[in-house]
Amino acid sequence: MDMQSSFLDRLFDSGLLIDTGVDGLYGRSGQFEDVISAFERLIDKFGGADGAEAIRFPPGMNRAFFETSGYMKSFPQLAGTVHSFCGNELDHMSLLKCMEVGDDWTKDQQATDIVLTPAACYPLYPTVAKRGAIPENGALYDLQSYCFRHEPSKDPARQQLFRMREYVCMGSEKHVTDFRQSWMDRGVEMMKAVGLDVTIDVANDPFFGRAGKMLANNQRDQNLKFELLIPITSVAKPTACMSFNYHQDAFGTKWGLNFADGSVVHTACVGFGLERIALALFHTHGLDVKEWPESVRKTLWG
Ligand code: AMP
Ligand code: ZN
Repeated sequence: MDMQSSFLDRLFDSGLLIDTGVDGLYGRSGQFEDVISAFERLIDKFGGADGAEAIRFPPGMNRAFFETSGYMKSFPQLAGTVHSFCGNELDHMSLLKCMEVGDDWTKDQQATDIVLTPAACYPLYPTVAKRGAIPENGALYDLQSYCFRHEPSKDPARQQLFRMREYVCMGSEKHVTDFRQSWMDRGVEMMKAVGLDVTIDVANDPFFGRAGKMLANNQRDQNLKFELLIPITSVAKPTACMSFNYHQDAFGTKWGLNFADGSVVHTACVGFGLERIALALFHTHGLDVKEWPESVRKTLWG
């Protein structure tokens, strides 16, 4: 058995994660959630004084905004749409018949106005754009959302529905790149404080197809994405537990995010993969939090 499925089995056996029969879709125990809550309080401790505006969106977003975002151009393989039955009584009868005989009952489901949120910051840009100009000294937001990505896997660190905590910064190029650098420094400090072994490396998103290879190379060459990596199921291939993304003026241009003088803002976002961080803690310190090193427990629970 490989390292990924054996760690997943241990998590199921301990009750920390709960099997639903679908790879990457798990229930979480109270203990697992308590670790995530404690880590989020640590994030607040590091970021709270920055005065970010907290916003919580549900894990679904406006389909029209999703379409404008261009997600289907870059990551069609990861997207999840919400479909629903919109027929009449006759359609309902044929739907039930279909289910009864084991045929595909989903093919007549209709797309709703909602798609599953692919990253916590996606619903933010159109929301902020609607409010008007960005202040001269920039804007900062604190987000957390369940996100969906269609990437079923036996690796417990690769889930289909997982939470991302994000800070998103809008402003001048210098303002947002300084923001990103400060979180790279804070990220390393935070992970060290909870006894995790980290490295930071340049990264790229999994853009789809042949054209996507060029986008990925470009993102790498320009240092637009960094990841903070922690060993979870492999030391040779550590897992990205945080990402630090600089979008240049791409989202500013796309969404019409401008300063009062009409110039386009730059944006950057920093994302914590909350399940991955909890899993890194369980993997490093053991499945029983009572046995974790005292310094780690103190950092998380005071
Ligand atoms: P990304 O937008 O891909 O940079 O994702 C932001 C963060 O979310 C990553 O650094 C991971 O920590 C986390 N993440 C991404 N994909 C997954 C997944 N399939 N399962 C769990 N966490 C994920
Ligand atoms: Zn983001």
